[in-house]
Amino acid sequence: MQVACPYCTKPNELDDQIAGRTTRCPACGKSFIAPDELAVIGQRHTLVSFPVASVVLLNFVSGGLFTLIYLNQLHERMPRLRPNDPSATVALGLCFIPFVNLAWFFFSFHRLCIRINEQRRFSGMEQEAPTWLAMPMCILLTTGVLATMFVNGGIYVLILVLASLLPLFAALVQNAVNGLCERSVDAALATA
Ligand SMILES: [Zn+2]
Repeated sequence: MQVACPYCTKPNELDDQIAGRTTRCPACGKSFIAPDELAVIGQRHTLVSFPVASVVLLNFVSGGLFTLIYLNQLHERMPRLRPNDPSATVALGLCFIPFVNLAWFFFSFHRLCIRINEQRRFSGMEQEAPTWLAMPMCILLTTGVLATMFVNGGIYVLILVLASLLPLFAALVQNAVNGLCERSVDAALATA
């Protein structure tokens, strides 16, 4: 089976026998527990296609609130391959705790991209979820919130992030999800 390293996200070809046991990533040298093979093969994601344009539109209508919640609930739609892969309950709950949510987004959005890319790889697809954008986006979002509180006119920084990087990130994530859903439908038709 092929499994992404939880630290460096490099794909590792693992012997099925070591499922549930500790293994070492050849790329970064860190050890991690290989997911149970059943978790990889038996459980399927339940991600659904949604128009990218609608995600962007809803972001603007809700001032970014829709996007922050929508992205976090996507965690629930993928099999948990790591002990600390969040459930939607945890992911959504933490969204509503001031300041904790800002720290949470750093972990949540980065991991979300890793999990989507993992599902894409299981379907033999390229990694398209924007792992690279998660961190810069969260840094600027946090900067925007702090600027709003402490700097006169700082709210414009926040508005700029909510109107540019956040919808861009959401659009790229949704695009990666939609591609995966199309592939899943094709695969289902092929085996039917
Ligand atoms: Zn690694």
